[in-house]
Amino acid sequence: MSKDKKTGQIGVTTENIFPIIKKFLYSDHEIFLRELVSNAVDATQKLKTFASVGDFKGELGDVTVRVILDEKKKTLTISDRGIGMTADEIEKYLNQIAFSSAEEFLEKYKKDANSIIGHFGLGFYSAFMVAKKVEVITKSWQEDSQAMKWECDGSPIYTMTEATKEDRGTDIILYLDEESNEFNDKTRIENLLKKYCRFLPVQIAFGKKTEWKDGKSIETEEDNIINDTNPLWTRRPTELKDEDYVKFYKELYPFSEDPLFWIHLNVDYPFNLTGILYFPKVKSGIDLQKNKIQLYSNQVYVTDSVEGIVPEFLTLLHGVIDSPDIPLNVSRSYLQSDSNVKKISTYITKKVADRLEEIFKNNREQYEEKWNSLKIFIEYGMITEEKFYERATKFVLLENVEKKFFTLDEYKTLVESNQTDKDNNIIYLYTTNKEEQYAYIDAAKEKGYDILVMDGQLDTHFMNSIEHKLGNTRFVRVDSDVIDNLIKKTENKEVKLTEEERNTLTEVFKSVIPPMEKTDFIVGFEHLGEKSNPITITQNEFMRRMKEMSEMQPGMNFYGDMPASFNMTVNLDSPAIKKIEADKEGTKELTSQLIDLALLSNGLLKGEALSKFINRNISSINE
Ligand code: ADP
Repeated sequence: MSKDKKTGQIGVTTENIFPIIKKFLYSDHEIFLRELVSNAVDATQKLKTFASVGDFKGELGDVTVRVILDEKKKTLTISDRGIGMTADEIEKYLNQIAFSSAEEFLEKYKKDANSIIGHFGLGFYSAFMVAKKVEVITKSWQEDSQAMKWECDGSPIYTMTEATKEDRGTDIILYLDEESNEFNDKTRIENLLKKYCRFLPVQIAFGKKTEWKDGKSIETEEDNIINDTNPLWTRRPTELKDEDYVKFYKELYPFSEDPLFWIHLNVDYPFNLTGILYFPKVKSGIDLQKNKIQLYSNQVYVTDSVEGIVPEFLTLLHGVIDSPDIPLNVSRSYLQSDSNVKKISTYITKKVADRLEEIFKNNREQYEEKWNSLKIFIEYGMITEEKFYERATKFVLLENVEKKFFTLDEYKTLVESNQTDKDNNIIYLYTTNKEEQYAYIDAAKEKGYDILVMDGQLDTHFMNSIEHKLGNTRFVRVDSDVIDNLIKKTENKEVKLTEEERNTLTEVFKSVIPPMEKTDFIVGFEHLGEKSNPITITQNEFMRRMKEMSEMQPGMNFYGDMPASFNMTVNLDSPAIKKIEADKEGTKELTSQLIDLALLSNGLLKGEALSKFINRNISSINE
């Protein structure tokens, strides 16, 4: 049979396991180093345990795990002084167990290569993703052990021979294959060690430290230790100071500003979890980044994509979570249904709420100062997590135009009496821009109303969800109606215009509105008193909010594509309007002027229309 005609099905057997390992796991080849160094660390930890219970009576000595790259020979060696293996153990752990777990793994994933996301425990055999030959030279910690050498070139046949090795422990020597040349590079290996092994509990040395001498970089005697064996989250909160937390934060995120707060997580029942979560300082939405939390399992770095493990809104936090109870070798969809993972997520949500409530209660002033950075997390949490919503109603704050802060309860008490409408709804007035909506804010203040500032990224969604939950509370932007209608306390005075009068008058006003793209005006008539403005332009709260929400959510194009629709309310009590009503012919200029003024106060008079308005006024002054 010619080579290119060969067809058949790939079955997973030891015969073809190596090509499959290479092919399937292509994108994640780099994790071999994590797997091998963690094995070395495990072997060392086990020996330490034997020593602590008295089973091992010898000297532990220096147990640094050493990673050595020989760029000329293209070998990478991981060397430990841990428990080592006897011939029987090699047979059992490498030939049988490790092999069978590799087979089982491939059996599970061969149909669905996409579900391999880098979380798996292929362990020792992942060495064959990058090596054409692997040698294991090992000597057990037990007295009078015979050192052994195990060797395998990627075919299912291995050899095992007696070897000479002075010291207990294991050397794993990888002969890097051609396709894995990228790993024959000191910088690459050092970066990988820093990524995956940065907080392993046993010292890891990669070569020696270098220093500059006579314009050259030369090696010193000192080991180049790449990890911190005692990271902050493994230590007791009581022995740590604020500076320690800030310092650790800066180690994790070198160029960030100081964090706002942190939460030290520590639980051992019903699951194991430690970690530190930080609230980062955010200046704008641009700073917001997901996936800044690093997930560890017994200090081994696993991933920085924690979706599914922590609730969505907490993916905006920074920090580390370490849990041996999070299953690492499964797909993401499985993760989300795992009961341990669910418990972890609930626990973290609760802890975050506890901490926020505590700071709010004990130091409200500090909390208010930091509110602008905190706000986005809390609103996001309230919108997306029912449980968090309930907790956060105690410490979510509303800020008014005077820069005063209120809890939901406090605010209700403040405005209830003066801002309840005839249908018993409490109206929360708000502005999204103090400058642009100045005139409306002013008018509302005149009435003794309070005005909130709602200019945050999530505020529209947040208001929606609050209205939904609170029932008889409605948020209304100050410019969404004429002042008397913002909070309608009584029925307005009836407008006595015949259908025909209405149509003619509407036309009088419509005919002088400057042309504008994608903008509609609906002319309406009201009796608003002599002193109120002749014409007010407002935008309906509901329509505007729909438009805003649809701009944030792709797919809701219906509202997004609709023209912006404004209400143009004509005040029939205004003397100027009375003039226009009486003399439809000679007042075109006055009508134009009133409309332009109304547009101007909304920021809607632009371009040619604005220039015409200015010229007209200048000439009338000059006359
Ligand atoms: P896992 O580590 O998940 O058990 P591995 O395939 O990585 O699976 O390793 C299989 C076994 O081989 C380990 O459980 C351990 O008993 C043994 N082993 C691997 N590396 C070492 C080492 N450096 N020193 C001692 N034993 C080792």
